[in-house]
Amino acid sequence: MNKLCPMPGCSVERITRDGPDFLHVAAHGTRPGSRCPDCGRASRAVHSRYRRRPVDLPSLGRALRIDLRVRRFYCHNAACARHTFAERLPELLRPHARRTRRLAEAQGRVGVALGGEGGARLLQHLSMPASADTVLRLVRGLPLPEQEPPHVVGVDDWALRKGRTYGTILVDLERRRVLDLLPDRTAETLADWLRCQPQVAVAARDRSTEYARGIALGAPGARQVADRWHLLANMRQVLERWLAGAHARLRHLPPGPGASAGTRLGSRTGPFRRTRAEGAARLGRRARRVALYEEVRRRHAAGERLLAIGRAMNLAVGTVRKYAYAESFPVPEARPLRSSILDPYLARLEARLAEGCENGLALWRELRAAGFTGTAKQVHRWLAEHRTAPAQNTPHKWRDGPPAAKQMPAGPGRLALAGAAGVAPRPTPGGVADIRCSPRDTGRAGPRDRERGRTGPPVHHARARERHEPEG
Ligand SMILES: [Zn+2]
Repeated sequence: MNKLCPMPGCSVERITRDGPDFLHVAAHGTRPGSRCPDCGRASRAVHSRYRRRPVDLPSLGRALRIDLRVRRFYCHNAACARHTFAERLPELLRPHARRTRRLAEAQGRVGVALGGEGGARLLQHLSMPASADTVLRLVRGLPLPEQEPPHVVGVDDWALRKGRTYGTILVDLERRRVLDLLPDRTAETLADWLRCQPQVAVAARDRSTEYARGIALGAPGARQVADRWHLLANMRQVLERWLAGAHARLRHLPPGPGASAGTRLGSRTGPFRRTRAEGAARLGRRARRVALYEEVRRRHAAGERLLAIGRAMNLAVGTVRKYAYAESFPVPEARPLRSSILDPYLARLEARLAEGCENGLALWRELRAAGFTGTAKQVHRWLAEHRTAPAQNTPHKWRDGPPAAKQMPAGPGRLALAGAAGVAPRPTPGGVADIRCSPRDTGRAGPRDRERGRTGPPVHHARARERHEPEG
């Protein structure tokens, strides 16, 4: 039975079933005596016996509990403070442990692979249950793997909390494994670690003077090299700072040979015009950013550190760095032009505009017949930027001044009106525009309505149509 159920230092007396899921193994120690854990003197004088019930590795799909009879011995050493001590079974059990060594190692290995919660869930199905906290405690109790002494180490800082607390990480660059984490990044801490590793021949680091001092103190014979990652990172930072600083000058360079010279018919070069409210909001945002830029420049010139400026002004360090090194306010890069569902119809719209039709609603109906799925507002917005004369129902206050200025303030609400009244039909070769752009087609009130005393936006479409019916 002892061969089937090996228990080092013990003899198995019997194995019994306890319900469908448990086995009980009764066992006792076989060694004639034991040594006192304090003075080390051997003793065979049994004082008493008691039972321990540790859990062991499962067997035949059942959890296994050992019913272990343990002796207590006298210590006869007069100089020893201890009078009695319990029998030790070092290969099987730690003192006071409630699980055997082999079970603890198995549960710990599962924890290494799966972590606390995941390990606990799996162990439940393997008939050796343990809580997540216990699994983590067993992982911490596992012996660390043996490591070859490192010869080429990399030193860098690592963030316990980014921007606040940093430590030092040491990496074996030959085996690409983390060697240690130090609680801070001071030269003394690094030097203390390196003094315990006298075989280190090469230390790669960033350009921190603190690390340079630490390596010189702890490993004076080691060669210090700047690692490639930091060289590239530093080069990129310098280049970015230079480009950010020279941004204003670079913007005035002539276009390169690949830049497009002109624009095709029916293509856009910029986004659709924004409303006045949107434009005002944009100017406000820009003014706020310029104020931030000037404040960052002032603080930086006064000698404040970038990190401190960022904290004081609640800005990201990257933004602070960009502002601090820019000679002039860095204008944000223009976003790429986004496509619009009106784009495929721009050539058609321009052609119709050249024919003289500046009636937004009529143009929209044509496009809709051709498959355009957008709203009339989109056509009106485009038309507001391109019309040659103000719409007939444009209020007089917008008619004064140069034509460009009159079209500028076209907001969404006014755009709807601008295209609605219908421009006086121009003579065109085909005569099509004459029909399509008539006030009747628009379904809105024309100039005659205003003569009759109608004011405000013409909303009664049906009535307006009735009035124009005999004149159309
Ligand atoms: Zn003793």
